[in-house]
Amino acid sequence: MTPSAAAAATSLVRPTIAALAGYVPGEQPQSGKWIKLNTNENPYPPSPAVARAVAATAAGRTLAKYPDPLATVFRMRAAELLGVDPDWILCGNGSDDLLTILVRTFVGEGEWLRIASPSYVLYRTLAGLQGARCEEVPYRPDWSLPEAFAAARDRLRLAFLANPNSPSGTLVPPEQVAALAAQLPCPLVVDEAYGDFADTNCLGLVARSERVIVTRSLSKSYSLAGLRFGFAVARPEIIAELVKVKDSYNCDTLSIAAATAAIDDQAWLAETRGRILATRRRLTDAMRALGYDAVESQANFVWCTHPERPHKPVYEGLKARGILIRCMHYAGWGDGLRITVGSDDEIDAFLSVIKTL
Ligand SMILES: *Cc1c(COP(=O)(O)O)cnc(C)c1O
Repeated sequence: MTPSAAAAATSLVRPTIAALAGYVPGEQPQSGKWIKLNTNENPYPPSPAVARAVAATAAGRTLAKYPDPLATVFRMRAAELLGVDPDWILCGNGSDDLLTILVRTFVGEGEWLRIASPSYVLYRTLAGLQGARCEEVPYRPDWSLPEAFAAARDRLRLAFLANPNSPSGTLVPPEQVAALAAQLPCPLVVDEAYGDFADTNCLGLVARSERVIVTRSLSKSYSLAGLRFGFAVARPEIIAELVKVKDSYNCDTLSIAAATAAIDDQAWLAETRGRILATRRRLTDAMRALGYDAVESQANFVWCTHPERPHKPVYEGLKARGILIRCMHYAGWGDGLRITVGSDDEIDAFLSVIKTL
């Protein structure tokens, strides 16, 4: 594309979009043999029940019909597991879809979205797409959340809290989240994409407060990043509003069948989670032995900073040896390495290379 063609296209689109940098996901190489420790995927294959459900669904005449707009079978099963009614659940094409629906539902042009930072960069992009403004409240150096996160502000319409947070892997305790939600003048979305790896979660707050909305993802804990399935838990009155905003058929028939089979296999989840938590312990301790400050994680990745050694050359050295991790830079915060908890073999390979750098 020539610069003049780019400029011409820019003049055609909404100025808000032209000014937007656009969200850049982590590297997803489509060829070559990589050890991928950069986008928090699960290193283990999903429950075998998933493939069986997909095959059975694809074999019949089911795909000739539109999917169930509300993914009722999934909602019924998830409701049973979570101890809520099905009308408290909304399914999405990955939890990113739900985050988009939430911003479109609550935040208008020129209004404010509040986020804690550093955190998931997509939140800011979603505000930008909406022509909304984004206020970033910095975490304290120990990754605790200051009171300012709950402060009143004119035209503040929604707040996002990734909990456990990325890149830190840290968790704001549910009691503190409840206190923040009670003070906030707007709804609070608790993004629990990593909730299954944590000791505790904020699901119980949804019943206690009409202001709290929890989102979950099957990408990480259920090893289904390629499938695209997530869900939100909120009061039925809120779910009913979100339904108006979502695409009619935002989840397809195969993904609904697969996601239902995945959550049906809780034994698989318990076993895989146990393995990942054991490897997380080993990775954290090994990084500390190498002189890194490795934050105690409640997720499936570990955030590491080194007091002296620059991070970028370490990332590049690993990449040259076929190992991808994430080197993140946050304005006003500095940079660091976010390392996904892979399999034991992957982490061993990673450790043997990083030791030589
Ligand atoms: C991975 C991630 C998501 C997105 O999950 P999908 O279900 O794959 O869309 C949402 N929030 C956070 C904090 C994440 O890290």
